[in-house]
Order: sequence, then structure tokens, then C-alpha cells
Amino acid sequence: MIVKSYIGTAQGLRQIQVEIVLSPGLSQIQIFGLADKVIQESSKRILTALQKQGFRLPPGQTVMVNLSPNHLRKSSQGLDLAIALGILMETEQITKDVFDSAKTSVYGKLSLSGEVLVPEDSHMLNFESPAPELLTGPSTGLFHFDVLELSTLSEVTNIARVEHQHKGYHPERPARNSDWMFTKKMARLMAIVATGEHSLLLAGDAGAGKTTLMESVVPLLRQPDEKSFRKLAKYWKLAGKELSWRPSIQPHHTSSPQAMIGGGNPPRPGEISLAHGGALLLDELLEFHPNVQSALREPMEKGYINVARCGHRDVFPADALVLASTNLCRCGKFHPQKHKHCRCSSLQLRRYLEKLSGPFLDRFTIFHLMTHGKEAADQNLEMILKRVQKAQSFAEAEGRGGINNKLSESRLLQDLASSVDPQWVPFTSSRRRKWSLLRVARTLADLEQSSSIEQRHLEEASVWTGRDYHRLQDYRFNDFIFV
Ligand SMILES: [Zn+2]
Repeated sequence: MIVKSYIGTAQGLRQIQVEIVLSPGLSQIQIFGLADKVIQESSKRILTALQKQGFRLPPGQTVMVNLSPNHLRKSSQGLDLAIALGILMETEQITKDVFDSAKTSVYGKLSLSGEVLVPEDSHMLNFESPAPELLTGPSTGLFHFDVLELSTLSEVTNIARVEHQHKGYHPERPARNSDWMFTKKMARLMAIVATGEHSLLLAGDAGAGKTTLMESVVPLLRQPDEKSFRKLAKYWKLAGKELSWRPSIQPHHTSSPQAMIGGGNPPRPGEISLAHGGALLLDELLEFHPNVQSALREPMEKGYINVARCGHRDVFPADALVLASTNLCRCGKFHPQKHKHCRCSSLQLRRYLEKLSGPFLDRFTIFHLMTHGKEAADQNLEMILKRVQKAQSFAEAEGRGGINNKLSESRLLQDLASSVDPQWVPFTSSRRRKWSLLRVARTLADLEQSSSIEQRHLEEASVWTGRDYHRLQDYRFNDFIFV
């Protein structure tokens, strides 16, 4: 008898096969296939649950359970139900047609009394594609697809099909504050960030408008498609919240690393995961706990976060646009062009900036030093939104419906105009900065409805991705040179 189920991996839940055969021997359950201690221990629990529900193992027969593929080390929170149902079918205590084992995956925990429970990590299945046909415990609307539900083992002939209630798809773009006006330069930056969803770190003195700019990007973001919006809305329901637009999470810098990253028992997603599919706004970035900086590196690269807990790991989705701001010194008044207002010593300045780790800074596509300019603020959010939407429609018409900040290297190179000076591409010390530059150049080309990335796009992109980034590196490692 073969039943499909899941194990946990660094990338989420992975489907495996649970094979059950009987062999002459002691009346017990033996599990093979690199199972960890938690799975090994489940054999006694399954046995007790079967007995409590009026079933038994055949005398003089050992139940051999093989988990394949065999070469993978396995940890799982929900193999109990698959093993128990496999045993009941193999020993003909129930018929093999109670569910379709070729189509249905079985993922559930058993209590000692034989109750079926939904495993804590099964919310990950909401992010697996395509949606599986799943047999599990009473799920109370956890999933965004239809599920088969079973409350106790003895009710196996009475499996309930619970249909997912499709709610209307009504994302509401947040209101754009019409009083907020921006300079042409800042409007350009916001259009770039919103169009390409490029991660952004804004630095500057207090009162430069960093927070307003970050918050204004959220209503400019692309409307979520119906499928992903439903998934996100479901995920938010787990946290007891309603979603009306792409998520926007702005945790305070005093939040604990666990509140930010996730964890606990049972494991709960942190703020970083609640921002999945939307934006994570981090005001006063350097005031956050240092562990938060290092924890953010993985999701900014891979779109998910590993959370260590009681000797094993949980994986939560965490694919968000990260928008962050920071002052350049503790008093908040330092700016390279206006040093006279700041009372921090040179050493204090350097210590403060050293809190920003190089690898973390490198993960921001755009780093920009904000200044109070004399330029007139004559751009409102409606004007910027129109430019963003025009650029996104152009990219879609070109066959690029995804996010520019995730465009593949091959696609970026393919879009480079033949007239581009080849010296421009491999010019920077960091591989990440090179691809950041090309991705922003792709967005600049979209804002101009240009199919190819031209020299002028690369030149402007290098200002957004490289100029201030390299200036900051100089401040971090050399004496301050005021300009
Ligand atoms: Zn200062």
C-alpha cells in the first residue's frame, strides 16, 4: 500500500511516498528511510491511537513502513495519519476506496486517543502549487483549496469534503494622500521602486522625509492578482487579520527578534512573514536588534525564512519588498553636506555606521542619501501612480509580468541594447551590485517604454544603485571627508 504525504525541508513541505508492507515477525511498526527521532517515536503513538479506536495490528506480522525517496533525511509533523491509514488498508480493516490514494495526499497528526489534528506547519501548503487534494484533520477553513477532513480514525468511512469558500476578490488600493508633494527627483525614485519593486534603503538626517517617502510607495505597488491575493488573505486570517491590499508591515524598532523573525511553540510567523507578498517598512533600521539584520538577509535573497525551534527548523514564506530608512548618526543630524549641525564625534559616527553590516547593505538594490533640496515639490502621488502603471503595462505587453527586481540574469543580458558599451557591464566590484544596476536599468527602460536597456538607462541606474552606496562604504572605512 502506498500513501502520499509530506516532510519538511528548507524550501517548504515536500511530497514523499509512505509504503506499507507486512512481514512475519513481532507485532510492531518499524520505520525505514532516514526518519528522525520524532518520526521514529510516532510508531508507538500510532499503535496506541489504532488500539483506542478499535483497530489492531495483525498478530505475528511486523508492519514495515518505508519513506521514499530513501536518501533524504526526514522530519515531519504529519506522517501519523498517512501511516495509520496505510496500515488499516494494507491489513484490510478498511477498504482501499475510502479515499483516492493516487490523487490525495494525507497529512495529519494523531493524538493518543486517535483524534486527527492538523499539523502546525500545514499552512505552508497554501503556498505550494498546484493545490493538492489533501486529507487532514478538521481544518476550520485554514486552506485556500478544498480539503478532505477526518476527525477520528474510526470515522474513516465518513470523510467529509470541505469546499473552500471563495470570497470576492476586492483589493482596494490605499488612499493616496493628495497633500503630499514630492520633488522630481524623489518622484523618480518612488516610480522606480514601485515599478520594479526594488528594495530601498534611504539614509539621511532626521526630518528629510524618509518615512513619508517609504509609506507613499505602498499605494503605488502593482495590484495583486486574484490567485495570490486569495492566498495572502488566507494566510493573514491565520494571524486573525483581514487584508484589503498587498500587506504593508511597519514594525517598531523595539520589536523582539522573535516577533520579527517568527518562532515559538506552536510556531507563529513573524512580522517579516506577514509582509510576504507586500512591503516590509523598517524605520530607523539601525535601531533594530542586530539579529534582525542578519535574519533579513535570507528572505531578501530567497523569499523565505528559516526559523530554528526546539532542535528543528520551520520555514515561513517571507518574500517582501523591503523599504528601510536610517539616520546616519545617533543624534540624527549628521549628513555629509551639513555636518555642522551634528554633535557626534568622528568615532561615534563611524561606530554608528558600522552597525550596518556590509552583506546586509549589499542586499538593498537602491541605497540613497536623502537631502533637503531647494527643488520645488510639485509631484503628487496620482502623477507618480500613472507613470508606474504605464510602465507595468508596457512590461506585461513585452511578456514580463513578474517583478523586475527578480529578473533572471539571462533575461537582463538579452535585453541589453547592442549599442551598449560592454565596459559598462562588468565594472563593479560586487556581483550583486552589477545585477542590481541592470535590474534598475530595466525598470528605467520600462518607465520610458523602451524594449531594450540603453546606455542612458545604465548611467542613471548606476547613480541609484552605486553612487551613494560607494560613498557610504568610504564613510565606513575612512575618515569622514565632508563635502
Ligand atoms: Zn550626530
